[in-house]
Parts: sequence; C-alpha cells; structure tokens
Amino acid sequence: LTDRGKRVPLDNSPLQIFVKAKKKINDIFGEIEEYVKDTVEYMYEVEKEGKIVNKDQVRNIVEYVGKVHSIRDVLQRDHMKVAFFGRTSNGKSSVINAMLRDKILPSGIGHTTNCFLQVEGCPSDEPYLVLEGSEEHCAVESVGQLAHALCKEKLNESSLVKVFWPKNRCLLLRDDVVFVDSPGVDVTPNLDEWIDKHCLDADVFVLVANAESTLMVTEKNFFHKVSTKLSKPNIFILNNRWDASASEPEFLDQHCNEQEEVRKQHQERAIDFLVKELKVCTPKEAEERIFFISAKEVLQARMSEGKPVSVPLTEGFQTRYFEFQDFEKKFEECISKSAVKTKFEQHSQRGKFIANELRDLLEGIYNDALKLKEQKLSERKEVNDKINYTEQQLMLVTQEMKKKIHNMVEDVEQRVSKALSE
Ligand code: GDP
Repeated sequence: LTDRGKRVPLDNSPLQIFVKAKKKINDIFGEIEEYVKDTVEYMYEVEKEGKIVNKDQVRNIVEYVGKVHSIRDVLQRDHMKVAFFGRTSNGKSSVINAMLRDKILPSGIGHTTNCFLQVEGCPSDEPYLVLEGSEEHCAVESVGQLAHALCKEKLNESSLVKVFWPKNRCLLLRDDVVFVDSPGVDVTPNLDEWIDKHCLDADVFVLVANAESTLMVTEKNFFHKVSTKLSKPNIFILNNRWDASASEPEFLDQHCNEQEEVRKQHQERAIDFLVKELKVCTPKEAEERIFFISAKEVLQARMSEGKPVSVPLTEGFQTRYFEFQDFEKKFEECISKSAVKTKFEQHSQRGKFIANELRDLLEGIYNDALKLKEQKLSERKEVNDKINYTEQQLMLVTQEMKKKIHNMVEDVEQRVSKALSE
C-alpha cells in the first residue's frame, strides 16, 4: 500500500494474464497489419507491369487491410466485464465501490439503481458520464452529483449509463475491468432484454445476496435464465451484510457456533444452486465461488486508509476483510482467464484464417509468376537452340569451305609447279 491507501501497481496481479495477453495479441495484429500493407504496396507495383497480377487480385488483398484494421479496433476496446445482480439494497453498489476503493456509485436508501450503470476506466483525469444514445460527456464531480444526474433523467430500467472514471485512480479500471451494476432483480424486470443487452459479453457474474436471508426465487430465476443463454457462466455468490449477522444478539450471546451453523446452511444451499440447479460448476469449484463478506465495512476501511480517524470495528471484521480479499483474488483469476479465452480465442482464430487466406493468395500469385518464368525460359531456350544450330552449321560449312579452298589451292599450286617444270 502507498501512504494514500492506494494499491501499488503489482505486475503479478492475476489481471496481468489478460493485460499481457492483450498487449501481445495487439502487437501481433500490428505486425500483421504492417505485413498486409507492405503486400498491398508491392502488389500495386507488380500490377503496373500488367503481367503477373491483375486488378482483381490487388483488390482482394486490399480488402484484408480493412479486415485486419477492424479486428485491431475491437481488440483495443476489449475488456473484462463483470456484472452484478441481486435484489435491491443487497449491497451491489457497495460491493462495486469497495472493489474500486472509492465511493463511485451512489448507494443506500433513495439511491436505488434504476438503470444499468457501467463503470469503466478513462485516460482523462476527470470523471464523466455518458447516457445511452448520447455522445455528450457530462462532468461528474461527486457521487451526489451522479445520483442527482441519474434521478433527473427518466431512464428506462434496461438503459445503460456509462460512468468513466480516471484509470489513474483505480488499479482494476487501469487493467481494463468494466463493472456493471443492475437494478434489483425484484423490480419485475424484462429479463430477456437485460440478458441480451448487458450479459452476453460478461465474463463473470456476481450474485450479491443478503446473508440475513436465503436466496430468493427472483434471484435464482435470473441466473436460470442466464445459464440457458450462456454456456457455463462464471458465477460468484457473495453473502453480503455478514457483519449484520455477526452483531445479531443471539450470535453475540452464543458466540460463533450459531453463526457457523447459518454459514454452513447458506454455503450448502449456494453450492446446490450452482452445482445441482444451474450445473455450472463442480462442488469443489463452487467452494471457491461463495463468500461471506461485508461490503460496507470493506469500503469504510478502504476509504479511511491513511486517515487519522479510523472507524470502530465490529467483531470479526478482520476475518470478513480477508474473505473479501480472497474473493477479489479468485475473481481476478477467474475473470482474466475467462476473458482471454472468450475474447482472444476468437481473434486468434480469425487472425490465423486471414493469414492462411493471404498465404494462399500470395502462393497463387507466386505460382503464376513461376509458370511465366518457365515459359519465358523455354521460349528463350528454343531461340538459343536455333542460334546454336545455325552457328554449328555455319562452322561446319566454313570448315568444309576452308578445306576445299585449301585443296584447290594445293591442287593449283601443284599444277602450276608441274607446268613450270615442264
Ligand atoms: P444495492 O441497491 O444492491 O446497490 O445496495 P446498496 O449498495 O445501495 O446498499 C443498500 C444499503 O445497504 C446501504 O445503506 C448500504 O450502506 C447498506 N449495506 C451495503 N452493504 C452492507 C453490509 O455489508 N453491511 C451492512 N450492515 N450494510 C450494508
């Protein structure tokens, strides 16, 4: 921790799996883009000669520039997305704020989230929000102002308001985690629209339940719907308000035993829900997905870090705080691995496909060029052969002539000398 209570960037955070993979795949696609552009330039040059490459082939290759560019665009915007669901006032906004270590989302009575709220990092130093269907950046100075801005607008319960929060104020946002807060699942929602609009690209779902009661049918129904639309969604269950259970009089009297019993019951039911009802994980995996926490306490503790006045602690605070940290670690591992798989696997398949298509195209052109070369060579060989034959003939004729002339001269000489002697 720094003296201002902020986490120091640690590059061994599980989120780095995603961050590094994103950088790597971006670099690879950067190289592919360069390579495609070089190829296009070269093709234009070759096409000018009008022999090997025609205009259609060049046009085919030019199309790849656009294809690779749009993949790069999507890649730049790829992020890890976590969506929070649960009944109103179970503490969804408080959990998000605790994870972000700041009071970013309005929480509490009168601040019921009446639409979807997405928090994502932005490079600027000032936070702002963008309403659905608008491009306008509305400045938000404080949580109060954000709450006010949200109340002022008549928002549909499935509409989305994006809150852009400076990346330099929060490590999770810096590492491309996007948080989505939802209206309570008890507000008779249009579940299909919710899921289609906000959940299909979520890497992790967090069900924020109330540890003071059992899981409700409305909460369960929502996740049943999610798991019919997505194959094996990653679901975490947070039994929030565990501090409130700890301070209930009967627990204080008989101390931990009763609370342990309640915990066991909640745990068993939550495991059954994930394993037997939703069939999204094994019992062992489910144990790593269920936590008993107090978002309110964690947020309070994190907000007061580095400040002289500390908040009075309820019994068992330290254990609940550690459990929250444990949740964060498991969550980071899960979201980062899942996002790499779901997001980058598609891109790398696409990249391989494009590279193969491009190779086939270039190989085709190369083969055409080879054929042309062979044809030219054989044409040249024919001409050469003819020349050689003529040369040889010429040589033979010349030699013959020389011989004949030589013989003739000798003959003449002999005859002349004979005539002279006679
Ligand atoms: P949401 O409607 O699910 O987003 O719930 P909020 O985060 O707005 O929380 C509703 C109320 O419950 C607020 O007054 C919070 O301070 C309170 N709250 C949230 N988490 C806890 C918790 O862990 N313990 C206790 N005691 N109160 C909590």
